[in-house]
Amino acid sequence: MIVLGIESSCDETAVAIVKDRKDILSSVVASQIDVHKEFGGVVPEVASRIHVENISYLIEDALKKANLTMDDVDVVAVTKGPGLIGCLHVGVQAAKTLAFAFHKPLVPVHHIAAHIYANELVTDVHYPVLALVVSGGHSQLIYMKEEGSFEILGTTQDDAIGEAFDKVARVMNLGYPGGPKIDKLAKQGKNVYALPKPKTQGKYDFSFSGLKSGVLQFTKRMERQGKTYSDADLACSFQECALNEIFDKIRLVLNDFPDIKHFVVGGGVSANSRLREKVEELKGEYPNVTFTVPPMFACTDNATMIAVAGTIAYEHGRRADASLTADANWEIQ
Ligand code: ATP
Ligand code: MG
Ligand code: FE
Repeated sequence: MIVLGIESSCDETAVAIVKDRKDILSSVVASQIDVHKEFGGVVPEVASRIHVENISYLIEDALKKANLTMDDVDVVAVTKGPGLIGCLHVGVQAAKTLAFAFHKPLVPVHHIAAHIYANELVTDVHYPVLALVVSGGHSQLIYMKEEGSFEILGTTQDDAIGEAFDKVARVMNLGYPGGPKIDKLAKQGKNVYALPKPKTQGKYDFSFSGLKSGVLQFTKRMERQGKTYSDADLACSFQECALNEIFDKIRLVLNDFPDIKHFVVGGGVSANSRLREKVEELKGEYPNVTFTVPPMFACTDNATMIAVAGTIAYEHGRRADASLTADANWEIQ
């Protein structure tokens, strides 16, 4: 089955064509990072306008690269939410137009479910699954008893992890998006600065805003005292503190749910090299669990994951009609 996926939830316009869940026939992404970095973050109205400019061209390009026409496509899948509402509407309208003009089934996809299903590109996923979602807008631990079922065990009480990376990078004047810059800089540093350990209420919940403020206060204190500090050491100390918080919670869940067979990671921060190292370390501790991270190209926003998730949702019978609309706060399904 050939699925064409469309993604436009934030600042990437993307279209991909995937055959039978795994076989990527084409995948094109137009990132707006160069536009938004001038503002230090995504400007929603600007983002929606650029999606409108790019979307038709990307659909044509994806078909051309796959050497297909719409006649060869079986299903059209699109991100319905969550995301920026004006951005989501662009993808949803494009998908509806394609589906109804070419008489194809239309399948709405949840963006976070798609980040999780990106792991299908690496290996067949075995359930029950523990999914760690670490992205620009989400930090969650999700228990999946079976494909298509999502139980949120823990979530962030304040900032998402990617947001914390981006804000800390801004404090340190590293530019936008901050995640990859901190990742790179941390490699040259040591974990030597004591930063506040996050405090949470729920057993599996996360919190990153105290840590982010801790970095800001640290830089201010050093300036006030006329002391210098190492950017690389600060990046490393922040990254270790944030990741340790996450990995402590992963261990809690894996200990509490011995039925979990497969651990997967999804979202932009799964591209983080230190996070990927820490997943490797878990392998030795939990020999009965399979550990998978998405391929690098499928970590940050892309449409390959939307096509994969669309395939799965289609197999589970999900369909939409002409009344399909975007939902900025759509619950995971
Ligand atoms: P959501 O998926 O929650 O809707 P989003 O789509 O905006 O949010 P993603 O595209 O999944 O987010 O991820 C973007 C985030 O990933 C940014 O915050 C970025 O800084 C972060 N990120 C990307 N690469 C890395 C990296 N190597 N290390 C840490 N963070 C990273
Ligand atoms: Mg993005
Ligand atoms: Fe995302």
